[in-house]
Amino acid sequence: MDKDNLDNDLPHVAFIGRSNAGKSSLINSLTGVKNLARVSSNPGRTQGANIFLINKAMYFIDLPGYGFAKKSVESLQSFCDIIHWYLFDSDHKPRVILIVDAEVGPTSSDLEMFEELQVNSREIIVVANKVDKIKKSQLANQLKKIAGIFEGYQVVPYSSDAGVGTRELTEAIFRESKIN
Ligand code: GDP
Repeated sequence: MDKDNLDNDLPHVAFIGRSNAGKSSLINSLTGVKNLARVSSNPGRTQGANIFLINKAMYFIDLPGYGFAKKSVESLQSFCDIIHWYLFDSDHKPRVILIVDAEVGPTSSDLEMFEELQVNSREIIVVANKVDKIKKSQLANQLKKIAGIFEGYQVVPYSSDAGVGTRELTEAIFRESKIN
């Protein structure tokens, strides 16, 4: 994420979430949508983040998932420092796609991240991911609960497995960045 390998004029969209929230699958499913979001270069890898240039118009930044229990305290700290710097202190001022597991609901680490994003005035789109795992009879209720928690922000129900939400999320990303 240093200045040398990124064009600073293009908007950044950062994808974050707990490890296992389905972030990699989501980015794969999003970038696989023909004519909407095309990966035009191989993902670069810098400081643990994957970087995708999308339609030569914006960068998708795939940040390491939070909640990495297996990492040493030291490496966890340096990871956190990088993510923190990137999200809140760098000039990139990325918009953020916050991915939560819709079946589990937002965890305390999700809520901590959400609060920090709000405090730092980041634009946020919430993804309620893996909706295919929720029983049909409970889906509306669960989504309502999640929408209540993230009141005031767009919450997009999503499932990479079932192909739900790709269009809505793509439209939200392109609309918000005012480049479409
Ligand atoms: P990441 O750690 O956040 O990048 O998560 P991954 O994309 O690697 O996915 C973590 C696990 O969740 C894997 O076992 C995936 O198969 C599963 N997964 C990801 N997306 C979905 C989804 O939409 N529905 C279901 N049921 N499982 C999913």
